[in-house]
Amino acid sequence: MLIDFEDHKFDLKPTKIIAVARNYRAHATEMNSTAPEEPQFFLKPVSSLTSHQGTVVLPRMSQRVDYEVELAVIIQNRLKKCTPEQVMNSLLGYTVFVDVTARDIQNEAKKQGMPWAIAKGFDTFAPMGPRIVDAKKLDPANLDLWLKVNGAFKQQGNTRSMIHPVDKLIAYISQIMTLEPHDIIATGTPEGIGPMKHGDHMEAGIDGIGILEFAVKTDKE
Ligand code: MG
Repeated sequence: MLIDFEDHKFDLKPTKIIAVARNYRAHATEMNSTAPEEPQFFLKPVSSLTSHQGTVVLPRMSQRVDYEVELAVIIQNRLKKCTPEQVMNSLLGYTVFVDVTARDIQNEAKKQGMPWAIAKGFDTFAPMGPRIVDAKKLDPANLDLWLKVNGAFKQQGNTRSMIHPVDKLIAYISQIMTLEPHDIIATGTPEGIGPMKHGDHMEAGIDGIGILEFAVKTDKE
């Protein structure tokens, strides 16, 4: 996908999107769950990416599709079994990400002990943008993040409430899978998640990065 980075259009070509589950205690609580001791994560397909000012398409298979605003980290240099210190020297930058989730499908999958690939993986379920900010310019441990639906605040948090901070989180993931340049790590959502409906105007913001906007439409195909 093309995305603004330092005053030019950057062709971001990730090999994978890794999304972290329950990385904010208050969100774990609202999901009637507890915060995991080790980071828990899942994959979203690259085909779910949607640009700033794009459209999230609500699939016919789901009756409830939720927003989750998250700080996304973009990898610059390959990371394999690395330390937290190495992580911070290997990041391209940060952007705003919404981890769109078919909640009814996810709840059914949880009940049956099945994977989340369907609930998290529909086309357009990963809006991201409006730009990537150079990793050297932001402290990922203290960023306000928020989400509005039709102008009304629904989520407001700060990345300081993360259970597993960016450096330790990515070092942990790199023990399991090699992170390639341009790979995306969505670092989890604070509390306040909720549903979207056809016609909603969505705005998701992070201090120092900007505001990611997108529309929501039902699937006409
Ligand atoms: Mg999420």
